[in-house]
Amino acid sequence: MQFRLNAVWVAIIALAFVFSLAYLWFALFPGRAAPEAGQYFSAEQVNRGREYNRVMRLVFIGSFASQAAFLAWLLFRGQGAELSRWIQQLTGGSYWGSLFLFFLAVWLSLRLINLPFTLFGSYFWQHRWGFSTQTMSSWWLDYLKGTGLDLALSAAGVLLLFWIMSRWPGAWWVAGAAFFSLWLVIQTLIWPVVVSPLFNRFVPAKDPAVTDMVRQLSRKARLPVGQVLVMDASRRTTKANAYFAGLGPTKRIVIYDTLLNDYPPDQVEAVLAHEMAHWIRGHIFKGLALGILGSFTAWGLLFLLLRGAVPLPPGLPPPHLWVAVLLFFLLLSFAGSPVENHISRAMEKEADRVAVELTGNVPAAVRLQVNLACKNLSDVSPPAFIQWFSYSHPPVLTRIELIQQAGRP
Ligand SMILES: [Zn+2]
Repeated sequence: MQFRLNAVWVAIIALAFVFSLAYLWFALFPGRAAPEAGQYFSAEQVNRGREYNRVMRLVFIGSFASQAAFLAWLLFRGQGAELSRWIQQLTGGSYWGSLFLFFLAVWLSLRLINLPFTLFGSYFWQHRWGFSTQTMSSWWLDYLKGTGLDLALSAAGVLLLFWIMSRWPGAWWVAGAAFFSLWLVIQTLIWPVVVSPLFNRFVPAKDPAVTDMVRQLSRKARLPVGQVLVMDASRRTTKANAYFAGLGPTKRIVIYDTLLNDYPPDQVEAVLAHEMAHWIRGHIFKGLALGILGSFTAWGLLFLLLRGAVPLPPGLPPPHLWVAVLLFFLLLSFAGSPVENHISRAMEKEADRVAVELTGNVPAAVRLQVNLACKNLSDVSPPAFIQWFSYSHPPVLTRIELIQQAGRP
C-alpha cells in the first residue's frame, strides 16, 4: 500500500512549509531592534542576544525541516513501504518482529539526522557563549541516557498502538488519545520524582533565608507548599531558572542553584512568587486539561487521515504506517505551536501579574527580568512572527511593561 498525498496531507504540509519559510526568513533577517530596548539594555547586549538566538533558531528550523523531509520522502516516495517489505523478508514474515525492526530503523535514522543539530545547539553553541559547563563526555552520557529512555518508551508505544489498531480499527484513535492523556498525567506526576533525578541531584533547600522566604510567600498566597528543592543545574549550565512540577503529593518548587548563587534575594523572591502564582491560578491543571483536549483532537484528525490505511481484522496495519503517524505528529505539533504558545504566554502574563501582587515589589521584578535577559542572552526585541510562533513567554520588554502596569494602583 502506498500513501497518497490527499487534500488533508497537502493542507498540513503547506501550512508547515509556509511557517518554516517565514520562520527561516525572520531568523535570518530579524530587522532592527525596538528603540525602547535602549532603556534597559546596551547596544552590545542587544546584539549579543540577537547573535546567540539567530543561530539557535536556525538549528531549530534546520532540525525540524530535515526530519520532516526525511519522513515525507519515506512516506510519499514509497521508500518506507519498500523498507518494510525488505525487513519482512529478513525476519521470515514475523509481523511483530518486522514492525519492531522497521520502527528501529526509522528511529535510528531520525536520531542520526538530528544529532548534528543537537550536538551543535546544545553543546558547541552553548560553549561558544560560555553557558555550558559540561565536558564532551558528560554531554554524551546525558545524550545516551535520554535517547535510551526515548527508545524504550517509543518502542513500547508503537507496539501498543499497532496492537490497538489491529484490534479496534474503528476506535483506535480513542484508545490512542486516552493513552496519550494518561501519559501526560504520568509525566506530570512521575517525571519529577523518577526521571529528573537521573539527570540532576535535588536536595531540599537548607538556607534559612530561602526557606523563610518561601514560608512567608506561601502564607500570603494561602498556598501550602510541599517540597522546596535545589537542583544542581550548575553542573551543566550557567543559566538560571526555577519551575514547579508534580501534583498532590509530588508537587514541588525546584530552584536552580545558579539562581541562588547569582541573583540577589529580592530577585529570587520574585522568581518564587511567579512560580507560586502558576500554582494559585491552577495553571498546571489547566495545562493538563488543554493537553488532553488537544490530544483527542489530534488523534481524531489522524484517524480521519488514515481511515483507509488501517485494514479491518484479521488484517494487520502495514509497519510503514508508523511513518505516517510520526510525520503527522511532527507537522501538527509544529504548525500548532502558535496556539500552544499563545495559551502559554497568557498564563505567563497572569503569573507575572499575580507575583507582583504577592511581593508588592515592582522594582525587583523588573530588575529580575533585565538580569535574566542579560545573563540568558535573550533576544530583547524578537521579530513579531517569531514571538507569535515560538515564544512560550512574552519577550522581556513586554514583561517589564506588564509588571509596571500591575504595580500601578
Ligand atoms: Zn512562568
